Amino acid sequence: MSHYFCHDHPETLTLETEVLEARPGKVVLAQSPFYPGGGGQPADRGALRWEHGEAAVTGFEYANGKLWHLLAGSAEPSGTVEAVVDPGFRRTMRRLHTDTHILNAFIYQTFDGALVTGVQMYEDGTARMDFDVPGADNDRIRALEAPINDIIAQDVALSFGYVPLEEAQAQHGLIRSRSVAPPPTSDGLIRIVEIVGLDRQACGGTHLTGTGGSPPIRILKIDNKGRHNRRVRIGLAAQ
Ligand SMILES: [Zn+2]
Repeated sequence: MSHYFCHDHPETLTLETEVLEARPGKVVLAQSPFYPGGGGQPADRGALRWEHGEAAVTGFEYANGKLWHLLAGSAEPSGTVEAVVDPGFRRTMRRLHTDTHILNAFIYQTFDGALVTGVQMYEDGTARMDFDVPGADNDRIRALEAPINDIIAQDVALSFGYVPLEEAQAQHGLIRSRSVAPPPTSDGLIRIVEIVGLDRQACGGTHLTGTGGSPPIRILKIDNKGRHNRRVRIGLAAQ
């Protein structure tokens, strides 16, 4: 169950939907515009509104195949609700997530198919990515800032599709993480995110539809984490 409404409707941040199940402080919705987190991208935040109330959405929890929306307080709304994603938070995550793909593409190409060993995005507009790049010269990593910002400036389109899991596993480089692949959807397909002409990889997060939606980035810091791993921190430039 990783085919999200936000994949098909990335611009829909406010959605009128029905409560299917409720407990004090949590609900299951018929449709959810929220990204529930995963792959280094924190979960969306936002709010639920209903006729006589409102509560912040503070997190998500899966139980028996259902996605529970956790609410601040102990309200137990029913019927029709309006689900509202925090737009600023989502925009920051879409930008950062797209930029981590661009960084990842250049590391992969520059360092002989180097894979990702970890990634985490933060609300402050920074992200860190860990790569398995034995013996990499940190100056060569630092030098990628300019080509990354060229791709952003060119506003390269992104496209999204699905392939069967076996096909994704058979194609070298499509699953870019060394440890984890995004889980297949309930129909056995895996989502592919392409920065047209630059990079294709399996991913279940939220992204821009063109790289130009991001401000330029800076490579803030490169740390050596053991003999093989480099931790690269990037940040969105202030606009
Ligand atoms: Zn992604």
